Amino acid sequence: MHLNLPHVYVELLDTDDQPVKPGEPGKIVVTDLNNHGMPLIRYRVEDMGVYSEKSCPCGRGFPMLERLEGRVADFLKLPDGGQVAGISLVERTLTRVPGVEQMQLVQDRLDRVSVNRVRGSDFTEETDALLISAMREVFDERVALEVVDVSRIPQEPSGKYRFSICKV
Ligand SMILES: [Zn+2]
Repeated sequence: MHLNLPHVYVELLDTDDQPVKPGEPGKIVVTDLNNHGMPLIRYRVEDMGVYSEKSCPCGRGFPMLERLEGRVADFLKLPDGGQVAGISLVERTLTRVPGVEQMQLVQDRLDRVSVNRVRGSDFTEETDALLISAMREVFDERVALEVVDVSRIPQEPSGKYRFSICKV
């Protein structure tokens, strides 16, 4: 994915609005250089992207995006300013912890994350403890973790199922 710099200036910013390094996800902020009727200046598209360290063999020489990483609101925040993609955390946890049918992470404060989970057929008394310890590999003791027993994870109006929701 080339960034077509003569037409659009693209910034990838961290939670302090500073540029991220290649390989790290950042909020995509766009300045449209060609649109005189309705210019967009540092417009936040609310998606996350990652700079590529590679250059394209086609020879245009523009920087490239490695990938898009989903919506800004789908990233959870760490107390030290880092960010975690909820989708990869949920996918990794579901493959390692038996007994969970579905789960969704909701961060309503910087120091609190709720783990909403639907019990699976192989749910045991150990499942929730395993869930918490899997989360602890990412969130240290400054973040309170709580498992919430739910019967289903509601879909968004679009029909999509969100793996994580950040409200801070
Ligand atoms: Zn190319």
